Amino acid sequence: MGENFEDIIIVGSGPAGYTAALYAARANRNPLVIEGYAWGGLLQETTDVENYPGFPAGIGGPQLMAAMREQAERFGARMETDEVTKLELSSGGAMHKVWVGNECFVSHTVILAMGAKHRKLGVPGEELLSGRGVSFCALCDSNFFRGLPTLVVGGGDSAMEEALILAKFSPSVVIAHRREDFRASATMLAKVKAHPSIKLLTPYQVEEFVAGSSGVLETVTLRNVTDGLPLELGVRGAFIAIGHNPQSHLVADQVTVDEAGYVLTDGFSTATNLPGVFAAGDLVDRTYRQAITAAASGCRAALDAEAYLNQ
Ligand code: NAP
Repeated sequence: MGENFEDIIIVGSGPAGYTAALYAARANRNPLVIEGYAWGGLLQETTDVENYPGFPAGIGGPQLMAAMREQAERFGARMETDEVTKLELSSGGAMHKVWVGNECFVSHTVILAMGAKHRKLGVPGEELLSGRGVSFCALCDSNFFRGLPTLVVGGGDSAMEEALILAKFSPSVVIAHRREDFRASATMLAKVKAHPSIKLLTPYQVEEFVAGSSGVLETVTLRNVTDGLPLELGVRGAFIAIGHNPQSHLVADQVTVDEAGYVLTDGFSTATNLPGVFAAGDLVDRTYRQAITAAASGCRAALDAEAYLNQ
């Protein structure tokens, strides 16, 4: 069991982690990125990314992440393709410890960029048809469902927002929610109710996503929560918008988090409540959650860490 001393350790490898790595590497900090086995974050689960500036023809999510990774490596960022198992963050300005199994990395600064995961329904077909009709991001994927009937699952602001985006492309958007009452704000709900292409379906739970003969989503099976009766809907796109889970479990008892587990930072800076610990990307962002906003906050985290090291 050895100890490895670092200036900057970045935990996580979405757009926030790799952008932080790029900036830290260009500041000659030789950062260590503990990127996880499934490196690349949520963009690894998407197909075409059409809203990342600089790619007029779009770019595949995995290709974009591979390019960001390569760019950070070019300037000296070191990638450890492994999972962090424990973080011991100092509250008194001492060095922080990042554990990967029995190996301990000790660092003056840590940038937390573990991201968030889409909450999943856990029903048959959801995983299998992900990218083949089942999606978690209307902003990314609604263009693929132009002229086709779609479904949104959820009753919060995200579901309303997804439906409103989708309705620009899809002639029929059904929002299925498990209760009669919606968690969404009155304003968003009013917009949805006023939209001629959007219909609300309550109280329904999704039971299964079913593919047609071509292997893409064709039918969604739902069940009425009150009377137990089944319902089949023919849709080509189903957008699951039932919230996100920030991946803060390793640090939630050390840094300040909100009631949903998002890491709290100090105003516009990326500083957490612990000296030398910064947080970026979807781990702190419950509002925007875009690749470009995550990348921008990774940049800010690296600049904040550099300023901290230069104090
Ligand atoms: P949310 O408010 O937590 O709503 C999640 C919805 O998904 C709830 O209606 C919930 O149902 C439903 N749900 C959760 N688990 C489910 C399951 N297993 N099966 C079926 N339904 C399930 O999450 P959110 O909509 O992502 O919003 C998160 C935060 O971001 C909120 O504060 C929201 O206001 C904010 N936000 C704001 C905007 C905006 O202002 N433009 C846009 C998006 C999000 P129940 O209600 O029955 O629990």
